[in-house]
Amino acid sequence: MLNLILFGAPGSGKGTQSAKLIDQFGLFHISTGEVLRDHIARGTELGKIANTYISKGNLIPDDLIIDIIEHVIDNEAKDSKGVVFDGFPRTIPQAEALKTLLEKRGHKVDAVIGLEVPEEELIERLLLRGKDSGRADDNLDVIRQRLEVYHNQTHPLKDFYITEGNYLPVEGSGNVDDIFNSIAEGIEKATGKIRRSHKK
Ligand code: AMP
Repeated sequence: MLNLILFGAPGSGKGTQSAKLIDQFGLFHISTGEVLRDHIARGTELGKIANTYISKGNLIPDDLIIDIIEHVIDNEAKDSKGVVFDGFPRTIPQAEALKTLLEKRGHKVDAVIGLEVPEEELIERLLLRGKDSGRADDNLDVIRQRLEVYHNQTHPLKDFYITEGNYLPVEGSGNVDDIFNSIAEGIEKATGKIRRSHKK
């Protein structure tokens, strides 16, 4: 099983690059943000709780997110050849929980792809996306808070994964296909486990 984390600030292109990864490597995709937005749209209890955090640009409590991930690993993703984690983990306790969850099942995080994009570009991209994403959190005030939360709570994961020895930095500005090629080559070289179904 190949387990990849797409890591980066809001607006760094995690969703776009995840879509290409699942297409070309045939992996299972889990975006915790999408799971939560789906709960909000369906008006579930979890959705109601999640909305109070998401609308302010804050993170949902770790235990709720870890339960979601554990459920997906043991159900929807169980028979897949690998998983792309998009937007998870976002805190050190989440990263530690993922490590334990995977180890218990005889797996590990194979590579953490860190999409590195300058801050001004992130804000521009998120404002542009906000024009048609319909996402309540793609407006300037909430974007600022999401970036602050990223710096304080999520960015420290970079050092965590550098220490683990599986962090792969990727320049996240420029052409989407060029960025994807850097990611794909990095994964092929770092893991030796998998190849793309077709190269563009
Ligand atoms: P995203 O779609 O990844 O940008 O996530 C949108 C929002 O969902 C975030 O700003 C958080 O409020 C929440 N969220 C998504 N993933 C996580 C996570 N791993 N931990 C805590 N909150 C999360």
